Amino acid sequence: MKDEPVATNLLTKLGSAFIRKEPYGLVLIIAPWNYPVNLTLIPLVGAIAAGNCVVLKPSEVSSSTEKVLAEVLPRYLDQSCFAVVLGGPEETGQLLEHRFDYILFTGSPHVGKIVMAAAAKHLTPVTLELGGKNPCYVDDNCDPQTVANRVAWFRYFNAGQTCMAPDYVLCSPETRERLLPALQSTITRFYGDDPQSSPNLGRIINQKHFRRLQALLGCGRVAIGGQSDESQRYIAPTVLVDVQEAEPVMQEEIFGPILPIVTVSGLDEAIAFINRREKPLALYAFSNNRQVVSQVLDRTSSGSFGGNEGFIYLTLPALPLGGVGHSGMGSYHGKFSFDTFSHHRACLLSPSGMEKLNEIRYPPYSDFAQQLISWAMGSQSCTLL
Ligand code: NAD
Repeated sequence: MKDEPVATNLLTKLGSAFIRKEPYGLVLIIAPWNYPVNLTLIPLVGAIAAGNCVVLKPSEVSSSTEKVLAEVLPRYLDQSCFAVVLGGPEETGQLLEHRFDYILFTGSPHVGKIVMAAAAKHLTPVTLELGGKNPCYVDDNCDPQTVANRVAWFRYFNAGQTCMAPDYVLCSPETRERLLPALQSTITRFYGDDPQSSPNLGRIINQKHFRRLQALLGCGRVAIGGQSDESQRYIAPTVLVDVQEAEPVMQEEIFGPILPIVTVSGLDEAIAFINRREKPLALYAFSNNRQVVSQVLDRTSSGSFGGNEGFIYLTLPALPLGGVGHSGMGSYHGKFSFDTFSHHRACLLSPSGMEKLNEIRYPPYSDFAQQLISWAMGSQSCTLL
């Protein structure tokens, strides 16, 4: 948080140059429903740490949590600096008509565009934490049971309603055949013979999302699971095979406990498949061969990357959380939150006297003065005068 001194050149040697991190002012945080405490409070902590005031807009979809936040936060925070505003799309639209100094939005790419367009009217900077379809490449050279454990864990966590979850698996037909029994065995071990009665499996947030997911169960062929119960908004941990690229399950973000396996001939085709699509929020590669994992990392782009690993890297505050391209812009978590919510102000304080030293920069210009200035600016300078 302290002013950060930076190097000077001969022209500015007598001054002090530094970066001051100052608060933007009033920050608007708009949150989604899927981790309704984490995705409101973690950005809020960053905005406060950087010295801002905040208007917090939780999701109306996770209605119990939004009520708790609206009730509890004013008890602990200075109400002249922090406000919780409740409402859905209409109220958020009205909120967005106001001028804020910074907006951090977490949600879908569709609404992200609405937020960015509203922010543009006031030239308000934004961080957009969006979603999308996260690919998960599984190499032939792997232990199928280990991969099944790791992939099932982070696909079915929170009933699949996680922005970083693997949205689909890409592997060869042979690996698919080895993965299917391993996934079945993992699902049974995690959730028992009757996953519906498991206390470790969540439910779908609401009827609208339940019906959307139920419709996706009709894509391709169900290899594992596929059961659903509307009265409980329950969708079984499911694996789909034989899905077509044009089917809805391969077009929209799944955001539920459904995992399609798409077959490819090998690494090159998998990378081509990934690169034909929007840059994802997260990308995963599983292989016993480190070079294969490195190739996926080197030849693709995504907000984050997990090699033989799921989203456990979210627990590392030293790593930024953020998307790229269609999955978002900017990042936060740990120190990145502080930087996101701070304006980095470039400062140079020079002595008020010793004016004689400045004469070299004033007209009338001479070749000698120009050469002297170039020399004084030093090799680090990238300024073309
Ligand atoms: P959403 O975009 O529907 O809603 C997010 C927020 O925007 C809510 O507070 C909602 O009230 C508001 N909103 C909705 N429609 C609006 C409109 N027309 N105008 C103005 N505001 C509007 O997203 P969601 O369904 O709550 O969350 C799921 C999405 O969020 C998924 O795409 C998921 O991947 C993404 N997500 C991303 C991250 C991340 O860290 N990148 C984390 C969680 C969720």
